[in-house]
Amino acid sequence: MREVYLDYSATTPVKKEVLDAMLPYFTQEFGNPSSLYRKGRESRAALEKARKQVADLIGANDREIFFTSGGTESDNWAVKGVAFANKSKGNHIITTKIEHHALLHTCEYLEENGFEVTYLDVDKYGKIDLNDFENAIRDTTILVSIIFANNEIGTIQPIKEIGEITRKRGIIFHTDAVQALGNVDINVNEMNIDLLSMSAHKIYGPKGIGALYVNRKVKLPNFMHGGAQEYKRRAGTENVTGIIGFGKAAELAKESLHEHIKKVTDLRNYFIQSVMEKIDEVTLNGHPTDRLPGNINMTFAYVEGETILLYLDVHGISASSGSACSSSSFQASHVLQAIGIPLENALSSIRFTVGDFTTKEDLDYVVETLMVITDKYRSISPFYKKKG
Ligand SMILES: *Cc1c(COP(=O)(O)O)cnc(C)c1O
Repeated sequence: MREVYLDYSATTPVKKEVLDAMLPYFTQEFGNPSSLYRKGRESRAALEKARKQVADLIGANDREIFFTSGGTESDNWAVKGVAFANKSKGNHIITTKIEHHALLHTCEYLEENGFEVTYLDVDKYGKIDLNDFENAIRDTTILVSIIFANNEIGTIQPIKEIGEITRKRGIIFHTDAVQALGNVDINVNEMNIDLLSMSAHKIYGPKGIGALYVNRKVKLPNFMHGGAQEYKRRAGTENVTGIIGFGKAAELAKESLHEHIKKVTDLRNYFIQSVMEKIDEVTLNGHPTDRLPGNINMTFAYVEGETILLYLDVHGISASSGSACSSSSFQASHVLQAIGIPLENALSSIRFTVGDFTTKEDLDYVVETLMVITDKYRSISPFYKKKG
């Protein structure tokens, strides 16, 4: 049976070059980077090279990159760190209704601990309104955290414009760029970003490794207390192989950024066009153009999303309804709710995300499978009326 993976936003396979870069550091080159003898120094050198590779992908200085266990940890560190460090200045945080749970649940935790959080609305495409944003700023606002590109609907926010406002007002600006990384040209200095979360496994690197960019002017409390690793900010022996894999993945992402964006955008548009042509009553969720190259989020009216997913799974196709974290429950995703999709449509929505290993033939097979399933389930729906 054919296998088609269309869930690149949930995770990506590790590229061969990435694995090859990692392998020696499991065996021959296993030294602890904190050790002063040759074996340690070699691990240290490889680790510092990776730090530079990650920094280069976002236009940062390598001294501003701190490795973490992934996007979730980076979000936690950034938001809790800024909040607790600036408590004497204020207790107000601005974010959006369409953040990843790593951010939303961290904000809820802060609300339980005396902070006030404004969750900005978004329009039907998933974008915040810059005037609403400026109006939400208070004298007590200490942090703005806005997702760079949404993981469910792919909408890309006006990050540079947000950064101009926060810089002018002297407010710290964090962005969760886990989905944007390697898919959008990011420059932290041009975009006035103070803190930025990254994760390796969304850019063809290994799982369990990520980083937080911290602008050198931002004071952020240390996250883990212990040894002197990560300039004493995040103690614990480094995930050396993971870091090396992340570095290599970042290097590859930088080298092929424009080619990758073009290729994946073409695949995305090909799929959208083909589905729209062959299946009726399908709508695309999210922004028509300001969206992640590989993101397709669609509502198939009159067919339950979970039914589609199960059927696709039986036919070797992996896709997702909403975000992976909520796929075990039947609640409508908070993101689809925020863009005003009615409940029944939200429950009929599927996220397909394409990537570097997707082919047009894969997509043709998925479209054919979708035609069969929508026909089959719509024919037994009391509400569906076939057109023509
Ligand atoms: C995947 C993801 C995360 C979590 O990253 P992990 O490395 O899996 O912890 C955070 N934010 C967004 C937008 C993501 O897509």
